[in-house]
Amino acid sequence: MAIATINPATGETLKTFEPLNDVEIAAKLDLADQAFEKYRHTSFAERSQALQTAANILEQEKADFAKLMTLEMGKPYKAAIAEVEKCAAVCRYYAENAADFLADVSVKTDASHSFVRYQPLGIILAVMPWNFPFWQVFRFAAPALMAGNVGLLKHASNVPQCALAIEDIISRAGFPGGVFQTLLIGAAKVADLIADERVKAATLTGSEPAGASLAAAAGKQIKKTVLELGGSDPFIVLESADVEAAAATATSARMLNNGQSCIAAKRFIVAEAIADQFEKLLLEKFTALKIGDPLHPDTDLGPLATPDILQDLDQQVQTAVKSGGQVLTGGYPLADRPGNFYPATIIIDIPVDQPIAQEEFFGPVALLFRVPDIDTAIQLANATPFGLGASAWTNNDQERDRLISEIEAGAVFINGLVKSDPRLPFGGIKRSGYGRELSIQGIHEFVNVKTVWVK
Ligand code: NDP
Repeated sequence: MAIATINPATGETLKTFEPLNDVEIAAKLDLADQAFEKYRHTSFAERSQALQTAANILEQEKADFAKLMTLEMGKPYKAAIAEVEKCAAVCRYYAENAADFLADVSVKTDASHSFVRYQPLGIILAVMPWNFPFWQVFRFAAPALMAGNVGLLKHASNVPQCALAIEDIISRAGFPGGVFQTLLIGAAKVADLIADERVKAATLTGSEPAGASLAAAAGKQIKKTVLELGGSDPFIVLESADVEAAAATATSARMLNNGQSCIAAKRFIVAEAIADQFEKLLLEKFTALKIGDPLHPDTDLGPLATPDILQDLDQQVQTAVKSGGQVLTGGYPLADRPGNFYPATIIIDIPVDQPIAQEEFFGPVALLFRVPDIDTAIQLANATPFGLGASAWTNNDQERDRLISEIEAGAVFINGLVKSDPRLPFGGIKRSGYGRELSIQGIHEFVNVKTVWVK
């Protein structure tokens, strides 16, 4: 894939970039390695001050950064603004809490003094996707840099200007040169980078094939990885739920980022008793969404990020229909305009034993299933290779407890939208990946947990 900014709302190529050659990559690796040797000795206070400055820059220049994101990958401008604000928040969170999270932990043993000390590992490679081009990078960078690691970013090839802007923010914030660098390279270069002895670990957010490929390359080198991959998150609505509130949240949960979010609700599993009401409300809300220019402040639904994403999604919709599904609204790409526009779509009646019922739809398409009871709801929720998040709606305490304990996912949200929050761990099980980002768990992923025992 060429490294380029192609406006997904128009199809226009705005800027192309020459990928780094091997000599340039080697120079950046050398710089990162040298930077680590000094940076590892900086104090938490110094790192924290730089990260707070990064937060200030993000807040002061959020309009520019938001516009850049919208231009490169098509998310609605108002969502892009919210994303930049969230990046500032994660920087502040780790600036304020990292010293506590990484303080020595005393443990009573047969030693006169024994404790756990957290130390940085060195260069961490981050392979990141285009869907939250700022958030996903800051979610990695804020804890990694506070822990004393240095970062190399291989961003998705369709968001190079976001990648360069992030490097610039971190540099202007006062982090020493080489502590965080963007590498404009294609995916084919990733395995060589991991094989380099100076790169100590890697994290990837993206598709299953990309995650498997990175993990295989890292496995050969005995290097740790954190993977945050896809999801086919269930959104369960039981009879006792507030159906009106559930339908409103369901719409936001599915349409988040034009439907291109790993934690978007994708399969709506609804109790038969309230299914007609829920379906009617969802249909009303989906058809009321404004689709169009993502830079326009009123737009709810912008274009998909690339023509490939559009084509893959349309293919899945056609397969769903061939498998017995019925389209209530949408169901075809908008051919009346340039760009990668796909309307809000609802598909009902897909037989649950069809493979397509378990797939991740990375776009504004909701699959709606009716179930007779909570047992069937949980069974269907778990009938997917993924296990990222789940949203479940009920006002019954026993049902709530069963949903919390029996749903196979990295997160369960009761009567709310699945979202990431710097204070809570974020990640999946099954084919959604492993490891955790955010919170104290996130900062502990890329450190040496050193045991110290003194007689
Ligand atoms: P990819 O997984 O292909 O891209 C994500 C990142 O991984 C990009 O930086 C990409 O680089 C890189 N990459 C791709 N292949 C490899 C590889 N073999 N080794 C190392 N790095 C690699 O996502 P796509 O953009 O192709 O989207 C396809 C599907 O992935 C979506 O439909 C969705 O299902 C899923 N996805 C999930 C995301 C999530 O948030 N969990 C985010 C994005 C996608 P490059 O751009 O240069 O190819």
